[in-house]
Amino acid sequence: VKQNGRGAAVTYTPDITVAFEAKKRAVLMIKSAISDGRLEPHYQPIIDLKSQKLRGVEALVRVRNTDGTLSGPADFWPALGEPQCSREIDEVMLELALRDFSLWKLCGLGIEFVSVNASTSCIRSSSYADRVLSKLDEYGLDPSELKIEVVESVFLGSESNDVRAVLERLSAEGVRIALDDFGTGYASLSHLRDYPINCIKIDKSFVSGLGQNGSNTAIVQALIGLGRSMKLEVITEGIETQGQLDFVSALGSDFGQGYLLARPMDAQALAQYATASPLP
Ligand code: C2E
Ligand code: CA
Ligand code: CA
Ligand code: CA
Repeated sequence: VKQNGRGAAVTYTPDITVAFEAKKRAVLMIKSAISDGRLEPHYQPIIDLKSQKLRGVEALVRVRNTDGTLSGPADFWPALGEPQCSREIDEVMLELALRDFSLWKLCGLGIEFVSVNASTSCIRSSSYADRVLSKLDEYGLDPSELKIEVVESVFLGSESNDVRAVLERLSAEGVRIALDDFGTGYASLSHLRDYPINCIKIDKSFVSGLGQNGSNTAIVQALIGLGRSMKLEVITEGIETQGQLDFVSALGSDFGQGYLLARPMDAQALAQYATASPLP
């Protein structure tokens, strides 16, 4: 039993207490990782399915624990449940991703874009566009070299006008906007029409069932077809088998991402990977 702010006694059930403790731990873990510089972007190659060439990378957050091990989003994001903290992660990741990308560019690695994930609380903050644009400027990058991945839930709720303003400003400056986990969310078709979206990412949950599951096959086929007819760039994620790769390539997905092609890796490994794969 604890006292709340107004002096009334509040009884916590054990489950709530456990969840609260887990959240507190996750938030503290992230805050200390950020202040110690232990957030570490890993980069997963995005491959042009026509030429088989590396075209871009997606930055994915990792935490370097004090014992040297690595944690991924599955280890802390569910417990985090904390918009402020997610936003801080995204801001740090943006900074690190642009820094790494600008170094690769100086080295002439020929990577065309870096993609970052932006959580809903980021996109809803009206100053986000300015912060992104000034970071691009700071690193001497062209806005078209950055892709921002958002999920469909950003379009829901009362802040959708703010979200539109942020995305339209970024888009007008040339930043590319990708709709992540496409097909898993809500009324996605009107979002494709009403917001400045350049790219859809077909969710790996559909791709994993290709071949074994008729509905997933039909869904992937329809989503790629939709993207192509709307002249959107199509990235298929979660490609793990040659069969899946052949299928989505034949349907005209522009890009592919998945363990079969390459796993996420740290900045140094990515630079080696890019050097080993010949330039287009
Ligand atoms: P996502 O944006 O859909 O990212 C793709 C996830 O799929 C990554 O997991 C990646 O490692 C994994 N993946 C890639 N290829 C394959 C494959 O062939 N098979 C399978 N089974 N998985 C594959 P990760 O890095 O654990 O990230 C999970 C989620 O956490 C991301 O899903 C994204 O929603 C979120 N996330 C990661 N980094 C950030 C970040 O910096 N900011 C925000 N807001 N979210 C992030
Ligand atoms: Ca993503
Ligand atoms: Ca995704
Ligand atoms: Ca996902």
